[in-house]
Amino acid sequence: MCHNVIDGRYYSLCQHFEAMSTRTHDCLEGSCIFSRRHVHNKSTCRGSCKRLMALPVRNPIRMSETECSNCVVKARGAGVGCQSPA
Ligand SMILES: [Zn+2]
Ligand SMILES: [Zn+2]
Ligand SMILES: [Zn+2]
Repeated sequence: MCHNVIDGRYYSLCQHFEAMSTRTHDCLEGSCIFSRRHVHNKSTCRGSCKRLMALPVRNPIRMSETECSNCVVKARGAGVGCQSPA
């Protein structure tokens, strides 16, 4: 079964993952409609082939020992909130 592979950056401090690009991992099975080895075309494929993709897999190609930009913005927002008079 084919699945998407999400390349991205992993932030170890907040354990969030930021997607950078997505690619498809080809299972190279003739019975899978997503594969380039699929042995049928639209008119000859009779529905016995796999039509579902497996769950996407995260592939951290970069690691940051910081927080992601979202969390930095959130933390900043909270700080401003604390400083404002009640
Ligand atoms: Zn496949
Ligand atoms: Zn088929
Ligand atoms: Zn985060």
